[in-house]
Amino acid sequence: MTQADLSIDRVTRSRRNVFASVRLDRLVEYRDDQAWVEHALNSSAARFVPLWRNRCLLSDTDNGQIAIYLKPGELARPDTIQPPTLLGTDGKRYFFAVSINDSQQVDVLARHPEARFLDLRVASVDMDTKHAGVLAYAKALHYWQYRHVFCGVCGSSNRLESSGHKLVCSNEECGRTSFPRIDPAIIVLVTHGDACLLGRNSNWPPKRFSTLAGFVEPGESLEDAVVREVFEEAQVRLKDIRYISSQPWPFPASSMCGFYAEAKCRDFGATDEMEELRWLTTREMEAAVSSDEVRLPPPVSIAFQLIADWYQQQCGKDLGKLARQAGSWHRRKGLK
Ligand SMILES: [Zn+2]
Repeated sequence: MTQADLSIDRVTRSRRNVFASVRLDRLVEYRDDQAWVEHALNSSAARFVPLWRNRCLLSDTDNGQIAIYLKPGELARPDTIQPPTLLGTDGKRYFFAVSINDSQQVDVLARHPEARFLDLRVASVDMDTKHAGVLAYAKALHYWQYRHVFCGVCGSSNRLESSGHKLVCSNEECGRTSFPRIDPAIIVLVTHGDACLLGRNSNWPPKRFSTLAGFVEPGESLEDAVVREVFEEAQVRLKDIRYISSQPWPFPASSMCGFYAEAKCRDFGATDEMEELRWLTTREMEAAVSSDEVRLPPPVSIAFQLIADWYQQQCGKDLGKLARQAGSWHRRKGLK
């Protein structure tokens, strides 16, 4: 594949990835302006993204899961557990993430009987992508805030500052400041000639095959992580690596950095991490997906996007359509 084959610029490519697909002006310059934040919180343009036990409020419609944003007045003063976290604006509304307690959750559901609090990862399989980015952003901050209630140095309680984007230790002698933690991971589609390499981990759902992936380690570049992970998972050596796009992946706190890599040859070896590895040409992939012998990763994942883009470039066909027809992704009813 040449650069010309990937004619979409890199900014646009990343925005096609679910969870990166909604852009907000994050209003970074206002996070420490308490008067401005108070004004925005009390304005009719405020919208609250409620998070209850790390779950998001969604409504199941014929078009998939739709995010529900609460309007002012729909929630009693929303600072019972944590102060609201300023997410940003879409030009019309100011979005705040709010943590709600059990009794507030009951009140919210009474006002929105059609809605439920769902795990975003499960719901996103079947979700309208328009608001997926806002929910992913809110969920990532919520997760970080709840897991850093205490200072990691002295054990005193932390307090939220900068409208939820900074934690400061309440012990003045310590005063340690911490920022949201993100764990970078690489994800890579390895190719050789007209085939790509997919692996199967025994912990995955039945028949699922996907790209290779792993966390970046301290002292390691993204490229070195690609080389190491591909060898650890498949014992394949690479001759070329290219960055393609990235995706926020708040399950719980990753940033996925997507690559294509070209293998030196198609030899691979058994590893502890993969129970099966396969080289598939587009024709073999079409047959394996159509017959439901191979199920692809969910369409919200950058893993699927990497495979689908490669497939499109190779044969001009739409892999999503094929996977949907084959039943790779079932519309999930009765999500919990
Ligand atoms: Zn401290």
